Amino acid sequence: MDTLHSLKASSLLLQPQFTLINETPQPNMAVVIRDGRFTDVGPAEAVALRNPDLTAIELPQRLLMPGFIDTHNHLTQSYGKALAFGEPSEIFKRIWVPLEQHLTEEDLMLSAQLASFEALRGGFTTVCDAGTRSSAGLQAIDEAVSTVGIRCVLAQICHDLGQTPEQVRHTESQAQQHLSRYASHTLIHPSLAIAIPEAASDGMLHHVAHQCREAGVPFQVHVNEHMASVERSLVARGRRPLEVLHHADALGPELLAAHMTLVTPSELSLLSHHGAAVSYNPVASSWKGNAVAPALQMHVMGIRLGLGTDGTRSDGFRLIDAAETAQRFTLGMAVGDFSVGAGWTWLAMASAWGADAAHLSNVTGRIATGLAADCLLIDIDVPELTPSWDLGWELVRLAHSRQIEAVMVQGQLRLWQGWPLDWDARAMMARVRKRAEAAVRAAPIQRIHSTSAQARSKVFKL
Ligand SMILES: [Zn+2]
Repeated sequence: MDTLHSLKASSLLLQPQFTLINETPQPNMAVVIRDGRFTDVGPAEAVALRNPDLTAIELPQRLLMPGFIDTHNHLTQSYGKALAFGEPSEIFKRIWVPLEQHLTEEDLMLSAQLASFEALRGGFTTVCDAGTRSSAGLQAIDEAVSTVGIRCVLAQICHDLGQTPEQVRHTESQAQQHLSRYASHTLIHPSLAIAIPEAASDGMLHHVAHQCREAGVPFQVHVNEHMASVERSLVARGRRPLEVLHHADALGPELLAAHMTLVTPSELSLLSHHGAAVSYNPVASSWKGNAVAPALQMHVMGIRLGLGTDGTRSDGFRLIDAAETAQRFTLGMAVGDFSVGAGWTWLAMASAWGADAAHLSNVTGRIATGLAADCLLIDIDVPELTPSWDLGWELVRLAHSRQIEAVMVQGQLRLWQGWPLDWDARAMMARVRKRAEAAVRAAPIQRIHSTSAQARSKVFKL
């Protein structure tokens, strides 16, 4: 029987050449998947003896590893991807908000489906959506998740500034309903968000943070991302964005702070002291940032960390590569640190630590008994990994998403060689091509930068 056919079974005993456990590729291990979970993980012989009803599927030249976790994304913005290239900071004002407000329900659904599919193809089995303003947006992501089969931390946005008391009451009741609706969903995990601290009063920041703390879900906020937002916060409230959260008593272990790139020593201490988590988004820094979060320093200080794409590109291997490279360029080079965390740090941040940052440690992030079977089967029979001397670090520096042979979420085979088995991705993409052009044309988007070709013609006067 071929591997694809074998992996479709509901109960599986997999015996890959290597299994990534504790960020270390281990040989001669086996895992059992039943009812969507890992029910046994251990030395192959012992696992086979404990599960005599199953026939081992041998997977030579394959690595089984946990799926990546994207701790910061915007699933309903995928129509706009390359529109943001070359743009100065605070792209949300000129591109994302105008675009999102002009998307129809069908556009929202297609955007979310496209982004979820891209994420899964890039090896992300979990994605945290940082919040959508409309109930149509939430519904679109809900539908995309059920079609594509990715795990999703789904946030509802709760702003109050500039709203009437009635609108605020409506937002609060919607937030409560959102938390209850998804409390025991298999693939969707609820969360609340405030896009940036300046969008909410101290009272609302406090209320939402504590609501999340009680529910045990992440409170997602973009914090200290750009110079412009830090300056605006200082002028308006006399405090930097993270200090605003602290002052409002909205800083605790529920916080999943996206970016945190412009961070002072005392803010590092605040994050550490209050047990907050940070989404380190190196590609977002490269494309549009003022700085790179000092992720290694944060980790050493005990700050919880995950990796995020911020909707830039959904390729888990390129993300971990960027995570390491950005630390080396900004911190390692100047002080002669040639290791910058070695490979394992970035693998952990992209899986187990990311799950912790997303409040999903008890659900996913590792290949361990009791957790959901969210995993990737990687083809290691490729020239880039031949010969192999340090497979863990090679995954960070040399591997690529084309090596992802299978993607499983909750024990279900969702992609084989990059394509879904139970829905028509190419038909979806054809619809996106047709609709995205009209949607982008209708939205009052203000681009500062031209396309690459236009930029070239300015240089060469062609
Ligand atoms: Zn973001």
